[in-house]
Amino acid sequence: MKIPRSLPHGTALLHNPRLNKGTAFSEAERDALDLVGLLPEGVDTEENRLKRVVYQLGRKSTDIGRYIFLSSLYDNDTTLFYKLVMSDPAYFLPLVYTPTVGEACRNYGHILRRPRGLYLGINRRGQIRRILDNWDEQDVRFIVVTDGERILGLGDLGANGMGIPVGKLNLYTVCAGVPPHLTLPIVLDVGTNNAALLSDPLYLGLRQSRVRGAEYDAFLEEFVRAVEDAFPRCCIQFEDFANPTAIPLLARYRNQVCCFNDDIQGTAGVAVAGLLAASRITGRPMTEQRFLLLGAGSAGTGIASLLVKVLIEEGLSPEAAYERCWLYDINGLLTTERNDLMPFQRPFAHPHDRVADFAAAVEAVAPTAIIGVSATPKAFDQRVIEAMARLNERPIIFPYSNPTSHAECTAEEAYRWSDGRAIVASGSPFPPVRLGDRTLFPSQGNNVYVFPAIGLATYATEARLVTDEMFVTAARAVAAEVSETDIATGLIYPPISSIFEMSIKVAEAVARQIFATGLAQIPEPPDIAAFIAEKIWRPHYHNLI
Ligand code: NAD
Repeated sequence: MKIPRSLPHGTALLHNPRLNKGTAFSEAERDALDLVGLLPEGVDTEENRLKRVVYQLGRKSTDIGRYIFLSSLYDNDTTLFYKLVMSDPAYFLPLVYTPTVGEACRNYGHILRRPRGLYLGINRRGQIRRILDNWDEQDVRFIVVTDGERILGLGDLGANGMGIPVGKLNLYTVCAGVPPHLTLPIVLDVGTNNAALLSDPLYLGLRQSRVRGAEYDAFLEEFVRAVEDAFPRCCIQFEDFANPTAIPLLARYRNQVCCFNDDIQGTAGVAVAGLLAASRITGRPMTEQRFLLLGAGSAGTGIASLLVKVLIEEGLSPEAAYERCWLYDINGLLTTERNDLMPFQRPFAHPHDRVADFAAAVEAVAPTAIIGVSATPKAFDQRVIEAMARLNERPIIFPYSNPTSHAECTAEEAYRWSDGRAIVASGSPFPPVRLGDRTLFPSQGNNVYVFPAIGLATYATEARLVTDEMFVTAARAVAAEVSETDIATGLIYPPISSIFEMSIKVAEAVARQIFATGLAQIPEPPDIAAFIAEKIWRPHYHNLI
């Protein structure tokens, strides 16, 4: 950890979460840094401080209470926060991110203790570059930014959306060791159309309806250019923008600045990783499969676009690759006859007659895999699953929509209606399912398998751009990390408990590609694994004197 040259002393040091070690300051540090008397006489080890917060957390009875406790811990002692969360990612990820972060965002104005990150209001137009200087870190490398319009499945939460960049950036560090002090969460506050928030006296955002159109675009442009100027080595991750904004935004900036959208590209990477691993179970190569997606929005078209890239890499012509990807949205199958399609949906439209419903689409397309990204509960009904089970020995069923209440089916339904033959991955986790004398283990297609590793590789190599090919590489690397034992039990993602080690391997593969394609802005090191290892941040107290 880089220690600032002019160390704060006394209470200023105890109030600096990045440097604070609280009761773990040694006698010598206490003497040298004017801490004597400000702390109890007992000197703690790192492990003892960890034990104490584990005990305190154990006294909280709700997840939102645990979320608030963890946020306060971050504000008090960032190192200890990460040490705790990284000690058991499988337990802590749902507390610092989904699903708990959803409840936190809904109530952000109510539960807020200490603001974190930057709030850029559209009323500050013309001043964004100057406001970025208010952030104390000069070399920001990673920004997660939202305008709060489509927070998870919860819709427009305005400035309350800050919980998402904050939580997501925690995961970059927890899952891949991206140095936390180089990350910056940002909310672009352009107003909200959420009437409940506008009338909530504790809401902290601008009290106006959303600005759209040219004024919004100009604000985004000012933001991107200001970041480029203030933090030239920074990658911007767009997060939880509504679909009509997200896709054009990514299209506008993806070839100009280092940026990506996790809802589109990260989701695609995770879905493709799952499909690659599933083909190890079915024994059927990707090129011999057909994919039918329910939902043709950010996630659906993102997944389909990346699938096309993979199929082309594996030898299909572009025409044949598109022919294997079918999409079905609120108005039915995407066909060439439809005149309501957006430009980004058009490549996936095929000549076909209208079909009555999704089950009829399954019969017509005969897919090997169906992926639900429509937020339509129960859309994968018994007819759909039974048709998939009739068409395939091992049908691949991904009810990816979040939260659990929006999932297209439960894991239990997918197994029951397919006689336990389905390969299941969901967006939100489902528990193991007992079917007769067998226990079946559904997987979770969690974006954390991909984006932290992409983040680490991008940060380490100072990549100029983030490309779709990097997500394909990440997907292949994630799939390669699924052990034969997991494959034998039907699991298609590695266990979350080993996410850190996995992310490092994935980051190495992505970094290798970044160097090979000339996108790195630093010379290629002789040993990429050692180079990545050097870049990783780990939570340990350092001697400050
Ligand atoms: P979006 O609004 O961009 O797209 C939704 C799509 O669903 C649209 O094409 C719409 O026409 C279609 N749709 C809506 N109702 C439908 C219906 N009744 N029948 C058929 N199609 C219907 O949303 P998005 O960002 O693409 O996200 C969609 C879902 O995917 C969300 O629930 C989100 O949580 C989930 N998601 C999951 C993951 C993950 O698990 N890793 C990642 C990203 C998104």
